Amino acid sequence: MIVYATHAGGRYLQLKDSLKEQPEGKRGVYVNLTNRCNCSCTFCLRHMKDMAEESSLWLREEPSVELVKDQLESLPWYYVSEIVFCGFGEPTMRLGDLVELLKYVKDIHPEVKTRLNTNGLSDLEYGRNTAVDFAGGILDTVSISLNASNAERYLALTRAKYGLKSYEAMLTFAEECKKYIANVVLTVVEKVENQEEIDRCKKICEARGLRLRVRTYEDK
Ligand code: SF4
Repeated sequence: MIVYATHAGGRYLQLKDSLKEQPEGKRGVYVNLTNRCNCSCTFCLRHMKDMAEESSLWLREEPSVELVKDQLESLPWYYVSEIVFCGFGEPTMRLGDLVELLKYVKDIHPEVKTRLNTNGLSDLEYGRNTAVDFAGGILDTVSISLNASNAERYLALTRAKYGLKSYEAMLTFAEECKKYIANVVLTVVEKVENQEEIDRCKKICEARGLRLRVRTYEDK
């Protein structure tokens, strides 16, 4: 499934089924661009292969930009509060396509908010400052996975392709994002981390002027 809504119990539904289950009210709509990622997090659903393949979020092939645009165009926009680029992989693995689609959403529905959920490693993936790609008001919120309070713990959890330098690169990306994106949020997953670790994460965010959100495992 490329475009979907989330429902109680960690279920992903196409919009027509989402509206059958919940006929009233606006909702976030998620866009799933890729299964690829430059991390291999210990807690990632992608590693639970049976579960991933059963889930309709597992893409047999990546959708073209045109196909995603077609699916976005036919959405019941009256019910859409936010378009979120998220999924079973890292959206910035398709950075150019992601930026094109963010622009497209703002072109056709400027009143709808946009959000990117990312591991924040796109600077390392492309070898340059990538936060600037989101300039121009195309992205309202970026939610970046902080995961841990130090580089060693971060690497143990994410098994990021770029090794120990990944943690600092992710934080630098977050700080750069503040120049271009109104709402920059870092996240840690409740239960993956204990309270002391979460407190340390809060201090790191405060020191850099960043906001931390403690999210549940199912929460996107
Ligand atoms: S960054 Fe996200 S998609 Fe990538 S391995 Fe970690 S949890 Fe999975």
